[in-house]
This record gives sequence, structure tokens and C-alpha cells, in this order.
Amino acid sequence: MTITAVHKYWTTRINEEIMYYSSMKYIPKSSFKVGKIHPLALSNSANQRDINRIPIRIKIATGTYILQINRAVYNQNIVDPTCNLCDQAEETLSHFLLCCKALDQIRTPILKNIICKCSELLALQYTNIQLDILQLIINPFHYACSDESEIDISCKIEPLCRQLIHNLHNKRYEMLAKMDLISSRRKMNFKVN
Ligand SMILES: [Zn+2]
Repeated sequence: MTITAVHKYWTTRINEEIMYYSSMKYIPKSSFKVGKIHPLALSNSANQRDINRIPIRIKIATGTYILQINRAVYNQNIVDPTCNLCDQAEETLSHFLLCCKALDQIRTPILKNIICKCSELLALQYTNIQLDILQLIINPFHYACSDESEIDISCKIEPLCRQLIHNLHNKRYEMLAKMDLISSRRKMNFKVN
């Protein structure tokens, strides 16, 4: 009885307030089941590698992963929103996940695999569907039309999305760390000279 009342309270509150949270932009309210863990935060296997990928994946899904564009918003006139990896465009979420040329090698094979798996899976469930690739990577459960399709997505697509996000994140940090090292060595040399 108490549990039902608590679930009802949270269902109503989520439905009323979700529109005010930008972090919920890619997570539709229909995908919340109060009392259950969201499938984005669950692993379908006991695979430790997959489980380790969950925190970064949640940051991406909730827009709390800090990119250059986010740093620039909070440090206007001090931080340039341009991507430090390619120097070609603002480092937004779509740039990082889909466009940055510096991450192409990491992205292309996994993205091809995701699109291929999705075409097979979603073609069976929908007669006509337009896939938004950014939405698909950020939260593939957006395309779940039943409990069975949620399980399919959880087993076949979400692990690939996690792998993609994790590998892009690692490559980005590796490149930024190298850049930091080079710039601090230059500063040291400058001081010595
Ligand atoms: Zn870039």
C-alpha cells in the first residue's frame, strides 16, 4: 500500500517536472518505470568491462559529460568552445559522438556495427522508422516499443553504444593528456631559458 503510494507520487512528480530538466532531454518520461532501475544503468551480463562502462554512459545520456562547449558556457570569454582534438568546430555532444575527425578511427567500425544491428532489429518491429543516430547512441531505449524489444536493445544494441562511448572517451582523454604534457613541457623550457 505504502509502496504503491510512493510509486504514484514519483510517477506524478516525474511527469510534471521532467520538462524542466535539460538532463532528461534524451530520456523520455515513458521510459521511466518507478521502482525499477532504468535499463541504461543496468548490465545484461556479469561482464565487468560492460559494468565499468556504465558511469560514463549515464553522464552522456544525462548531458552531464563535460565537453569544451559546457566549459565555455560557464567560463565565457576565457574558454574557447572549439574542439581541442580537431580544431574544426565547437565540441558539442553530437560533434564528440558523431563528427570529430580526430576520433573517426575509433568511431567508424563500432558505429557501422550499431547501425547494422539496429536495422535488423528495428525493421522487425517497425514498418517505417526514421532513426536519429544521435538519439540512438545517447539512449537506444527511446526506440523500444515493448518489453521484448527493450530486452533485445539491452542485449544487442546498448552494449555497443556503451563500447562506443567508452572508447571515444578514452581516446579523447588520451589525446588531451598528451596535449597537456606537451604544453607543460613547453612552459618548463620557457622558464628554464
Ligand atoms: Zn573535434
